[in-house]
Amino acid sequence: MVLVAHLGMSGQLILSDSARPFAGHTHVVLHFSGGGQLRYVDPRTFGEMFVTEESDLGEIPELARLGRDPLAGEVPVDYLASTFARRKTRIKPLLMDQTFICGLGNIYSDEVLFLAGVRHDRPTPAVTPAETRLLHDAIPMVLRESIQSRGSSIADEQYRDLYGEVGGYQNRLRVYGREAQPCLRCGTPIERARWSNRSTFYCPRCQS
Ligand SMILES: [Zn+2]
Repeated sequence: MVLVAHLGMSGQLILSDSARPFAGHTHVVLHFSGGGQLRYVDPRTFGEMFVTEESDLGEIPELARLGRDPLAGEVPVDYLASTFARRKTRIKPLLMDQTFICGLGNIYSDEVLFLAGVRHDRPTPAVTPAETRLLHDAIPMVLRESIQSRGSSIADEQYRDLYGEVGGYQNRLRVYGREAQPCLRCGTPIERARWSNRSTFYCPRCQS
């Protein structure tokens, strides 16, 4: 049996001792035989949690649609290159498309694109083989760094780690949220572009 959890917009999984009072919006409580609880807290209830057989995971529509998981195994350079050539879209929305690769949202796609020196609005067929290799390396690197720093909590501090603490990766972000601050690589002020109600941060000199 496997437990599947989707945190939605505001879900939190919190490890707690059993005596601690429940936070508001605690929807699921898992009791460990060795003591303690895992609590699922979700004010906006866009999240989801269920138990299923491992053999049935491929039948679940939400999971079957998901693309490659960069932390479950290497995402081959060829898979990136062929998708870039075929999809004919802009690079940032493609990186955020969970049917292509899972795990990159608005913040981490900006970080990946900065590391690879690629601008957010580059048409995907124009991404060069050298840039594709840089993206291939940057995607798992950013995700691993973030996990090592217990994730990113931005201004709303909505995201919390397993112990209910704010994450640490927001303090290590190279480009996201750094509008007008000097680029860590070249010193040029970081720019902010607005695109479908979200903000994109990039260096106008290092990214093209
Ligand atoms: Zn720069």
